[in-house]
Amino acid sequence: MAVRPEDGTIPSFEEARHLVEERAVQLLPGQTESVDLLGAAARILAEPVLADRDIPPFPRSTRDGYALRAEDLERLPATLDVIAEVRAGQNPEEIPSQMTRGQAASIMTGAPVPMGADAVVMVEYTTRQGDRVEVTRGASIGENIVPTGAEARQGALLLTVGTRLNDAAIALAASVGKSQLKVYRRPRVAVLTTGDEIVAIDRAPGPTQIRNSNSYSLAAQIQQAGGEPTVLPIAPDEPQRLRQLIEEGLQSDLLILTGGVSMGRYDLVEQVLADLRAEFFFTGAKIQPGRPVVFGRVPCGADTPVRQKPAAYFFGLPGNPVSTMVTFELFARPMLEALAGMSPRKLAFLHARLKSEIRVKTGLKRFLPAVLSGEFENSEVELVAWQGSGDIAATARANCYIVVPPDRERIAAGEWVAVMMR
Ligand code: AMP
Ligand code: MG
Repeated sequence: MAVRPEDGTIPSFEEARHLVEERAVQLLPGQTESVDLLGAAARILAEPVLADRDIPPFPRSTRDGYALRAEDLERLPATLDVIAEVRAGQNPEEIPSQMTRGQAASIMTGAPVPMGADAVVMVEYTTRQGDRVEVTRGASIGENIVPTGAEARQGALLLTVGTRLNDAAIALAASVGKSQLKVYRRPRVAVLTTGDEIVAIDRAPGPTQIRNSNSYSLAAQIQQAGGEPTVLPIAPDEPQRLRQLIEEGLQSDLLILTGGVSMGRYDLVEQVLADLRAEFFFTGAKIQPGRPVVFGRVPCGADTPVRQKPAAYFFGLPGNPVSTMVTFELFARPMLEALAGMSPRKLAFLHARLKSEIRVKTGLKRFLPAVLSGEFENSEVELVAWQGSGDIAATARANCYIVVPPDRERIAAGEWVAVMMR
């Protein structure tokens, strides 16, 4: 049975989260590898990406229309001589080298604005008559032109080490010709589920046995967060075998246990970790689901299984399936992201209007499975009916969690509530 601190010493959600973040910033990411740009999406960048030339490399027109001098439009309508047509990608020799007063060049979106022109008027405000164009609207200097280097100067830092490569980052890397990117290798995360009642999913469960779902939800979350899961065999509630498997799991970059951290007589995880000289940063947090969550590390030492690194971090997540999922998101994810080389980011929630009233007991910050619905600006959110933190079926119907502050007993329909997407 786990040794528990007094209730007063159990950290709030925010305190526990900060304890994790404090550790996460101290982690050093692992090795790097080079990957094709196509395979780099969602990976973590391990090299800075610089602008190989000015962006844009020429003053770029953002409209189809006429490049001209703004001063020529002081009196309207103005009639100008059309001296050229400039298309996107136009051969530089064919672009007028200098435009003077009274002249205009027909220009397309993405084409270079000729020297001497200082504005582009949209084609909608013009009428073409042979070699002349009549312009009916004025323009300010610089209108519809992005100057050379306005987005970035040659050599400027575009993407920093630790960036998760999303669509915009991939586009930016492509725009500077990076067909290969150096990224961090995915950290290896060991998953160890515990419990005498838990059976592998390819076995027929006895009447009181439960199939192992936690190893699979965790493996999915680990992959999604950028890690590589290794699922260990199920550990029984028996100290010797449990210790053997924990020792094996501690060889990975991170060990995530599920089950066996509550107050039951056969909850042995903490005791076995304590025998391995573990240091606990918290054992429990004022949240629901997931109150018994444990975070700590086993230091490197002759009497511990940790040899190759200064310490091995672990999380003991409560075994109730929804608790496992929620506590992974809240606490294990930032640690895993740091091991993956990602720059730290703060947890932020969206807000939506509550569809129907919530009543809970005070004292714990709650993350309750919910459905966010509605469209455009009219999203609303509602709890799913559930049987508590063992109810995987209800959670599978949910697309988010409503975050209920610990001091709220009742939240009325129509109030704004914080929402964590899943
Ligand atoms: P524990 O945290 O060990 O007290 O377990 C709490 C509840 O979660 C019990 O009902 C367990 O049967 C259930 N549980 C524990 N581990 C798993 C697992 N790997 N898959 C599904 N349910 C689990
Ligand atoms: Mg158990």
